[in-house]
Amino acid sequence: MEQVEEEAVNMKETIISVKHLVKVYKMGDLEVHALRGISMDVHKSDFVAIMGKSGSGKSTFMNIVGCLDIPTKGEYLLDGVDVGKMNKDQLANLRNKKIGFVFQSFNLLSRTSALENVELPLMYNSKISSKDMKERSIRALESVGLASRAHHFPSQLSGGEQQRVAIARALVNDPVVILADEPTGNLDTRTSVEVMSIFQQLNTKGITVIIVTHEPDIAAYTNRNISFRDGRIQKDLIVEKPRNAAAELLTMPVFKEEETI
Ligand code: ADP
Ligand code: MG
Repeated sequence: MEQVEEEAVNMKETIISVKHLVKVYKMGDLEVHALRGISMDVHKSDFVAIMGKSGSGKSTFMNIVGCLDIPTKGEYLLDGVDVGKMNKDQLANLRNKKIGFVFQSFNLLSRTSALENVELPLMYNSKISSKDMKERSIRALESVGLASRAHHFPSQLSGGEQQRVAIARALVNDPVVILADEPTGNLDTRTSVEVMSIFQQLNTKGITVIIVTHEPDIAAYTNRNISFRDGRIQKDLIVEKPRNAAAELLTMPVFKEEETI
């Protein structure tokens, strides 16, 4: 039985494979060793939380995985493609096709409707008609439960709703992985659970998600917790029984959120 299970895991498609990733930032004479040899495989429909103290290398790792930065040493395969051999233009192209980003501070354009914010990543693709763009964006907003807010501006949305628009924007290009660096860092407890329930729902549909969080309570909603310490992996654990965000939300009191933050 055990062997069968192991084979099933091996057959899962590998989305991200990094080996011995090293990142050294040079600042004049000073060298900062942000990553000191990180190796891991992330498979399709994994939901991973990267944890660890401030300065342990989490954001550096996410920036490299997101093709926003390159490692000093090491290998990185994204969806089977060797990222190490790419130039800047190729990296930007790969990033746009394969990665969806969600940030702590939402990063929405303020004078632009929710729908237009979601359409943004599609603008780089000249092959998509404006009709398709709109349809895909509405579908992405539907999948985060916000179709009814399509024409609202960010200032007319609560913090949780803004983050859901950002998740829709990350989804719209059909990426192989969603990367979220502290997506609940600016949100209160209930809203954080709301955002985690969206990630859980997307993950059940087969979407691979990696989040950074330093809160164990948030990591408990994912399937795998990887702890960084001083640029190395300290622990890599499967979460046997992840918390169920949607179920918990039903039992949590609702406070009226501020309209603007
Ligand atoms: P975390 O996200 O876990 O807080 P970071 O990846 O941001 O950690 O940082 C890891 C280490 O690398 C820290 O010591 C930080 O000061 C340093 N660092 C991060 N980015 C840069 C940079 N652009 N230039 C120089 N040092 C950096
Ligand atoms: Mg960070």
